[in-house]
Amino acid sequence: MTPPPDADARRAVLPVICYPVETLPQADMALYANARETLTKTGETVVPPRDAACFTVPAGHFFRITSVDGPQVGDLNLWNAADLSERFYSGKTRALHGTHVTRGDRVWSAFPHLRPMATITHDSLDWYGIDAFGGSVHDVIGTRCDPYTHNLLSGGQYHHCCHSNLTRALASHLGVPVEVAEPHVHDVLNVFMCTGFTRDTGQYFMKASPVRPGDSLEFFAEIDLLGCLSACPGGDCSTVHSSDAAACHPLLVEVFAPRPETLQGWRQPARNGYDRGHGA
Ligand SMILES: [Zn+2]
Repeated sequence: MTPPPDADARRAVLPVICYPVETLPQADMALYANARETLTKTGETVVPPRDAACFTVPAGHFFRITSVDGPQVGDLNLWNAADLSERFYSGKTRALHGTHVTRGDRVWSAFPHLRPMATITHDSLDWYGIDAFGGSVHDVIGTRCDPYTHNLLSGGQYHHCCHSNLTRALASHLGVPVEVAEPHVHDVLNVFMCTGFTRDTGQYFMKASPVRPGDSLEFFAEIDLLGCLSACPGGDCSTVHSSDAAACHPLLVEVFAPRPETLQGWRQPARNGYDRGHGA
């Protein structure tokens, strides 16, 4: 199409932040910082390469995802442990905090709950920032690698995409068939993954994750959580996923309890205050 005469002027309009976060309920980062000085480990789960595992975290505990043997990306799902309909809402977390999350950002649950499920309390990769390609770490833009998109693009039946890994692990945890578990699997938080959108074509890209063994991302559980983490078949996501070609490594999930007195003043967030009338 021929651009209108005022095309440049229209492009020059300044952007406005959709959701200024100043009025969001603020996380008390000083309280969390104090609490995380008193942690006692209460459990751990090792996620095998090209597989997933579930774990539970009581409200008021911390959980930490750590790279162990080599650079590895993880795909994280979170649910309210008592109500799987309350699950992580990647899209709204992105709208509120941006394309990538780090310390101080919160992980929000789906409608009609829309409350913080967890708060990020430590990110050893926060030094990375946004690189020259527009890439950054821990995105909430990717969905998860899955066998359906793989089949569309390449054909074939690959069973160890993150979507399938999460489905199998959840089915095993709940003791239900995979077809019952699958609808609970949702868009993920891509832990340690380095991603962005190309500036020229706007396409989703990935590049080798800067994660190294010992790096970690840590959360404070605001409500009782069921988590499921997949060690992506893409490994560090430097080349391919949805195959057994990439080098893959395990991921470690550890759960920690703080000393209870350090949580004085903290309360589980209430469910969203909208009355659900919808004007009907
Ligand atoms: Zn994956």
